[in-house]
Amino acid sequence: MNLVVYILKKDVMYDFLLDIKNKFETYVPIKKDITRFKILDNPKDIDFSENSYFPVKEHFFRKKEVIFQFNGSNFLPVELKSKNKIFFGLRRCDLNAIKNQDFIFMKQHNDPYYTSQRKKAVLIGYHCTKALNKYCFCESMNLTDYYDLMLFDKTNYFLVDAKTEKGENLIRKYKKYFKKSNYKISDKDTYIKTRKINKKDISKFYDHKDWDKGINLCLSCSACTEMCPTCYCHEIHDNTEINNPRNAKRIRSWSSCQLKEFTSVAENHTFRDTKEARFKHRIYHQLQYFKERNKINLCTGCGRCITGCPTKIDWVKIINEMR
Ligand code: SF4
Ligand code: SF4
Repeated sequence: MNLVVYILKKDVMYDFLLDIKNKFETYVPIKKDITRFKILDNPKDIDFSENSYFPVKEHFFRKKEVIFQFNGSNFLPVELKSKNKIFFGLRRCDLNAIKNQDFIFMKQHNDPYYTSQRKKAVLIGYHCTKALNKYCFCESMNLTDYYDLMLFDKTNYFLVDAKTEKGENLIRKYKKYFKKSNYKISDKDTYIKTRKINKKDISKFYDHKDWDKGINLCLSCSACTEMCPTCYCHEIHDNTEINNPRNAKRIRSWSSCQLKEFTSVAENHTFRDTKEARFKHRIYHQLQYFKERNKINLCTGCGRCITGCPTKIDWVKIINEMR
C-alpha cells in the first residue's frame, strides 16, 4: 500500500470537520470544566491543549452491554447496532490503548459487541508536541504507530500521516482539503520527552516496603481502573424484571480489580482479600503480567490513573524511588 503524507492547513481543518460531521458522528476534544471527547458541533471548540480527562474506551468496550435477552422460553440475541464514527484528536498513548483493547477483544477473543463498534470507527490522532503533564511516562512504554490518520502540528498546518486503507479512503473522499507532500515522518516528529520508569523488571520488588506509600493512601475506590484506557475487567450478571421475572437480560458491565468483591467467590472466599494485594495486582498486571503473557505493554503511560486518583498516588514515583 502506498502511504503518503499530506498537508492540511489549519483554517481548512474547520471546513473538513464541518464536512465529515454530516456523514460521521464526529468526536473531538472540547475543554469546559475538563477536556472530554464530545460530539462535534462547532469545530472552533476543539482544544488540543490537554488530553481528554476520560479515554474513549466506553465507545467500544461499553460500560453496560446487553449480551442477550430471555423471554421465558427463548434466548433473544441483541441487534448489534453501530454508527460510523470518527474520533479526531486522539493521543498516541490512547491510540496504543485502543490497540491493546483491539488485541484483547478482537484477536484474543472474538467479541462481537466490541468489534461491531470498533469496525465502524476511524481513528485520527493528534501527535503531542510535548509531555502533556508531569504524570505522563509514555516514553517508557514502547508505543507504536496505531492510527488511521495522525496529525502532526506544524503551527500553521498539520502534516497528516495515513497509516491504513481506512485513513487513505477518508482522505480520498475529502481530497479537496488535503495536499500531497513528500515529507517523511521521522523520529524527530514522533519523539516526546516524558519522565520514565527507571526499572525494566519490577518482579523482584514485589515485597518492597515502599509500596506502602501507595497502599496506605489507596481508598479502593476504583477511579484508576475506570479511567484507564486499557483496563478491561468486567462482570456478567443476569437481571430479571421485578414485575415479570420470566424476562431477563444478561449484562456485561465494567468492574475493577480494586474492588474486594471482584475476586469474591462462594464460601466467603476472596482471592485478593487485602488492599495490598489489589493495589499491587493493578500495577503488576499493567506493567508485567500482561507483557509476560502477550509480549505487549498493557499500560501506555497516559498517567490518567494518577491524575484521576483522589489521593494522587504516583505509583511511578514510588517505583522509581525503590532501591
Ligand atoms: S484511584 Fe487511587 S485511591 Fe482509588 S483505587 Fe485507584 S489507586 Fe486507590
Ligand atoms: S495504568 Fe495508568 S498510566 Fe497506564 S494506561 Fe492505565 S491509566 Fe494510563
